[in-house]
Amino acid sequence: SGAAEPPPRLVIDLERLAVVPPEKSRPLARYARTIQAQRGDYNGRVLSIRQDDLRSLAVIYDASPSSLTEELISWGVLNPEARRAVDSL
Ligand code: C2E
Ligand code: C2E
Ligand code: C2E
Repeated sequence: SGAAEPPPRLVIDLERLAVVPPEKSRPLARYARTIQAQRGDYNGRVLSIRQDDLRSLAVIYDASPSSLTEELISWGVLNPEARRAVDSL
């Protein structure tokens, strides 16, 4: 992508996350709850997160940012445009 193009937003679908098997969703669900608590943002159907948070989540999941991104997209939890964000990590 061009240097002037802003990175895409990373948007977690909290309703989809709630129906992912817990052994997969648990670390991300805990992380999202922490961000919601820090923001006082409890009412959203979705949660926008920072680019840096994807890097932290990859460490938590012991995965590369790109493979974690693919997995979250396959669950329907992350918007596919997020693939473009991984290029800048
Ligand atoms: P902070 O990073 O010191 O940010 C303080 C305040 O600046 C935030 O209060 C928010 O009003 C604003 N802010 C900072 N970065 C952004 C941004 O990228 N977009 C927007 N729209 N506003 C921004 P808030 O929301 O009450 O968050 C309080 C603290 O909670 C933050 O302090 C940070 O430590 C943590 N936090 C909240 N959301 C996130 C997140 O998505 N990721 C991470 N890593 N930390 C977060
Ligand atoms: P958007 O970023 O495409 O977000 C669309 C809608 O998704 C938002 O509509 C909101 O209902 C929901 N949403 C997205 N991220 C979050 C989140 O982290 N928490 C919650 N609770 N809901 C979320 P909304 O609020 O009417 O905003 C419409 C548009 O206005 C947003 O489109 C965005 O372009 C802009 N906007 C709203 N708040 C901010 C902000 O804090 N910073 C910036 N830069 N833009 C904002
Ligand atoms: P956004 O609010 O539209 O912010 C887009 C980008 O602008 C952020 O990408 C960040 O690079 C920059 N930015 C916005 N506000 C601040 C700020 O106060 N301090 C700094 N240092 N940079 C800022 P980023 O970090 O990838 O965040 C993506 C989206 O995640 C934000 O979109 C916002 O919807 C959400 N977000 C991230 N951190 C916070 C936070 O602390 N509080 C809230 N309420 N939302 C946050």
